[in-house]
Amino acid sequence: MEPLKTEIVVVGGGPGGYAAAFYAADLGRKVILVEKEKRLGGACLNRGCIPSKALLYASHTIATARQSASRGITFAEPVIDLPKLRAWKESILQRLSGGITQLAKARGVQVIHGRGYFEDSRTLRVETEQGQQLISYENAIVAVGSRPALPKAFDLGNPRVMTSTEALEIEDIPENLLIIGGGYIGMELGTVYAEMGSKVVLVEAMDSILAGADPDLARPIINYAKKNFREMRLKTKVSKMSTCGKQIKVEFDMAGEKKEELYDRVLIAVGRSANAGDMGLENTKVSFDERGFIHVNDKQQTTDPYIYAIGDIAGGVLLAHKASKEARIAVEVIAGEDSAFQDITIPAVVFTQPELAWCGLTEAEAKAKGIAVQVSKFPWAASGRALSFDHPEGLTKLIIDPDTERVLGVGIVGYGAGELISEGALAIEMGATAKDIALTVHPHPTLSETIMEAAEGFYGHATHTLVRKKAQ
Ligand code: NAD
Repeated sequence: MEPLKTEIVVVGGGPGGYAAAFYAADLGRKVILVEKEKRLGGACLNRGCIPSKALLYASHTIATARQSASRGITFAEPVIDLPKLRAWKESILQRLSGGITQLAKARGVQVIHGRGYFEDSRTLRVETEQGQQLISYENAIVAVGSRPALPKAFDLGNPRVMTSTEALEIEDIPENLLIIGGGYIGMELGTVYAEMGSKVVLVEAMDSILAGADPDLARPIINYAKKNFREMRLKTKVSKMSTCGKQIKVEFDMAGEKKEELYDRVLIAVGRSANAGDMGLENTKVSFDERGFIHVNDKQQTTDPYIYAIGDIAGGVLLAHKASKEARIAVEVIAGEDSAFQDITIPAVVFTQPELAWCGLTEAEAKAKGIAVQVSKFPWAASGRALSFDHPEGLTKLIIDPDTERVLGVGIVGYGAGELISEGALAIEMGATAKDIALTVHPHPTLSETIMEAAEGFYGHATHTLVRKKAQ
């Protein structure tokens, strides 16, 4: 078998891998992109970000229709045609992955579908449908991502016990759904199923959902869950699960107290596991942490001089946009540029109702690290736009360095917070001060004004809230 020769081989075609392949091609490199599945786009496009957002949009329609009764417009109860909903979701995924395939072609990136296996530090063997293909490369970028964690005790081999992958297929709408884990996935998919009509019980091992988010920003989401889930149990663990006819028998341990219940389906959302096994990396000098994620430095270099790793497989926060950023860094380092993952702001968005988004330093983090900050908040109950959307439950807050007045962090909870947070990320990246934001004219009436008013509040003169004096 004659090996193909390339400058860069990228293993994994998700938002890290295809971004790396495209950027390298844009810089004039010869690139091969290897993807084991038929469709490009990775977990994010096929089993994560995109299908979940489509389902959240669909479920928001139900919520909006229901809420509109209080505004004098009443709709009939929704009729959910699941095959049609699934087909619509699928059409989005096909369109997006088709677009990525076309973009690869237009850039001259050779895409090989098959499983990649490292023979050594400079050779990848790909098992394709047509047979084996060896690729000899100068540099490899590993972008093989992660998959939902499924602890052994929960793995009953019963399709009624789902991870996010199966839950996104919405085979049916279970009457009683148990969700284990109150993180991003538990809260987002809990929202989808609750709006579609399931009675959702969510259990979380810690004393709060959405660990990492500031408690005052998480509050409106907790309020949503209290209202729309059947129950939310904190400091609760599932000790045992077993199949019981068409249902799942679940034993809970709630701070010492035991309980047993039956559920129609169970969604396991307790984090994600690394995908680096069974790909021959032991034949290279790449090393791993105890959870199986690849060790990298801030240049995305692994402990093998020819191999880089980006995205989920390189650990850290498991977010698509972090993968895409690391893709650029890896390619630039390979191209000989002085690039590194330093002082980079990675915003986080939880697409619940309302949405929760933050970037940079959080208030809780500042407290834990003993960093002196001034916090300026603007409640959305004072925003004309928030009220006209009938969503006054939001809050915008800025975390500001009291000496330099620089914006160190931004947190937003509220309708469309995910679309608003980028102004905060730009402010932090640009080293903006609260004054820069306060002096920037924001259009009225928009939710973006809440960011400006939070900055004005820092100086004691937000128009729509009363702040008596300049923050000290
Ligand atoms: P997560 O880490 O966000 O949350 C998992 C939660 O499960 C934690 O709160 C943890 O305390 C809890 N938990 C763990 N074991 C438990 C147990 N035995 N019983 C009860 N609770 C338990 O993980 P996730 O929600 O599975 O999401 C996985 C990753 O996917 C996240 O790291 C996130 O970065 C990413 N993701 C991002 C988005 C987004 O950007 N909007 C959406 C979905 C997923």
